[in-house]
Amino acid sequence: MKAAVYKSPGQPLELSEIPTPTPGEGEVLIKVAATGVCHSDLHVLDGEMIPPPEGFILGHEVSGWVVEFGPRCENPHGLSPGDPVVVSWIIPCGKCYWCVRGQENYCPYAAARMPGLVGINGGHAEYMTVPETAIYPIPKGLDVHNAAVISCAYGTAYRALKEAGVGPGTSLVVVGAGGVGLAAVELAVALGAYPIVAVDVREAALKKAQEVGASHVINAAERNAIGAIREALPQGTDVVYETKPNPDLKIALEVVRRGGTIVVTGLGASTIEIPAMHLVMNGIRIVGSLGYKPRTDIPELLALAAVGKIKPEKIISHRYKPENINEAYNNLRQGKHHRALIIWNP
Ligand SMILES: [Zn+2]
Ligand SMILES: [Zn+2]
Repeated sequence: MKAAVYKSPGQPLELSEIPTPTPGEGEVLIKVAATGVCHSDLHVLDGEMIPPPEGFILGHEVSGWVVEFGPRCENPHGLSPGDPVVVSWIIPCGKCYWCVRGQENYCPYAAARMPGLVGINGGHAEYMTVPETAIYPIPKGLDVHNAAVISCAYGTAYRALKEAGVGPGTSLVVVGAGGVGLAAVELAVALGAYPIVAVDVREAALKKAQEVGASHVINAAERNAIGAIREALPQGTDVVYETKPNPDLKIALEVVRRGGTIVVTGLGASTIEIPAMHLVMNGIRIVGSLGYKPRTDIPELLALAAVGKIKPEKIISHRYKPENINEAYNNLRQGKHHRALIIWNP
């Protein structure tokens, strides 16, 4: 099969022919439809995270079709060969301290085996094998390729909004209108939040944010973002969602209301400085949120997409052939995408 193989930090991926994997016990073979081009991959490619071994396959935002189950599978969703699925990069064990407390996104067993990130080859290939507990059926009416973005961009945004308590009437500022930021805006609309303010320095990203439902957009390169947000929300905002990689919370700490919440999902090597007085006197809640709780969040998101409450196709701006995967990451680095897919099997 064709696969984009990881070499070493700073090196481009190498498109190679490698053996198609066979599913082991409890595993399923997936024919990959599409993989998302996610900012988290850049941290791996640029050597900012512990590098995977040479030969590893990235790609953690994946959709595809079931090919076959290995031995000793339970097939809890009753899937047949050819059925479309999304692949979660969080695969909770279901039995550990965190899983039994409903915090499966912090499962240490999941942390040790994340397809495309840690321990298990990902979806930047024509086929992949994953534990069968990683897959979720795509409902009718939802395009299999577009559904890939459910398993990282939407999942991450949805969990962050839930952790911050976003619901009807919540005022929300989304800092960074990349793939996750745009998904957050769209989901916040679906959850009834208002107003929804998107902040970015890229005009195209802000235009898209407006298209997916932001009530206000602010170009921080052209205006004083803090002043502009205060104009829209004189009391401050209930929730700030900081989606940027290398978060600093500079805007967030200035615009969150007293008693409000800041939620952070961006990865990076940055350090966040918080004035202790500000934190205490204003009762600010700062929440880190990793990924999503797949067993509830993924089916909910797939249902929201199936009924049209969210439209993944709106935030997918680019589709690349596997041959152009390095170009895709370079364009991501330059902020050219909303969200991009690699199409492994049309
Ligand atoms: Zn991702
Ligand atoms: Zn667990």
